[in-house]
Amino acid sequence: MLKTLLDNSAFFKLVCGAGNEDPESVKRLVYIYSLAGCKVFDLSAHPEIISAAKEAQRLSAIDNLYYCVSIGIKGDPHINKARIDSGKCIKCGSCYKLCPNDAISEYIKVKTSKCIGCGFCAKNCPKDAISMVEKDADVKNILPYMVQSGVSILELHVMGHDNKDLDYKWQIINDSKPEFASICIDRESLSNKEVLTRIKNMISAREPYTTIIQADGIPMSGSDDTYKTTLQAVAMAEIIQDAKLPVYLTVSGGTNSKTAELCKLCGIKYNGIAIGSWARKIVKPYITRSDFWSNNLVQEEAVLKGKKLIQSTIYRH
Ligand code: SF4
Ligand code: SF4
Repeated sequence: MLKTLLDNSAFFKLVCGAGNEDPESVKRLVYIYSLAGCKVFDLSAHPEIISAAKEAQRLSAIDNLYYCVSIGIKGDPHINKARIDSGKCIKCGSCYKLCPNDAISEYIKVKTSKCIGCGFCAKNCPKDAISMVEKDADVKNILPYMVQSGVSILELHVMGHDNKDLDYKWQIINDSKPEFASICIDRESLSNKEVLTRIKNMISAREPYTTIIQADGIPMSGSDDTYKTTLQAVAMAEIIQDAKLPVYLTVSGGTNSKTAELCKLCGIKYNGIAIGSWARKIVKPYITRSDFWSNNLVQEEAVLKGKKLIQSTIYRH
């Protein structure tokens, strides 16, 4: 049960990417990480992505997997997609080489279904030719359907200041009656005080149900495995923990194999860790191979990488 995983601090969530709308990539990620021991998968809120995850579960024959779908309020980077202005682009190839999700082709075209909105390409473009464009979902229809399709957690990313959009989407999440609702929050544009006020307002709107708070460091920043990368996530978790709220606390945003250790050093008693960028990066050389489905050795090596990462996130007293 999900509650047991959270109660035992054994909740590891593989973040496939709220913007990752590529069914084959999701299928391979869920397949490898379910074999590695992951029980919870964060997916884009699209029927074909849920189907891809379920197909992977059928292939791996692992029972009791749980699915979470994430949506964002306006201003949340997770719902952005890159757009290239061909008039400004000089075809230097930098974005193509940098993109962690292979979402830019060698012809410098964005493959929208693969773009997770991380913004690395835009930050590094020498000609300022890339902008990030919001792609909002039809949450009113899609979220109840997700719950009916077996999704256990509905998560709202609440970065930004659009309170109207936040209230609207949070209400739809609660009306959809998921097993758990989750709030993913960071401090990029909110003070510590604003973070806690926002969380308190949101959880009071869904009493008596328990909420998961996903303390987000720097969203989609886990491109390496250092303490520095995970520092902000742990600092954010400390703020939530110190507020002593009646919530489950999970950590994300720059999380990696160092997160659990740093949490322990800082006295953070988390219920779970969610990892996206780093978890995807370590299996990318395997899951992008053309012989992936026919090569057992490739699959086994990828599973070992995933297992090692999951082991590193186990809460140690
Ligand atoms: S980094 Fe910018 S200029 Fe270079 S190829 Fe990409 S869009 Fe074009
Ligand atoms: S670098 Fe990030 S934002 Fe740019 S295309 Fe790739 S996934 Fe999308």
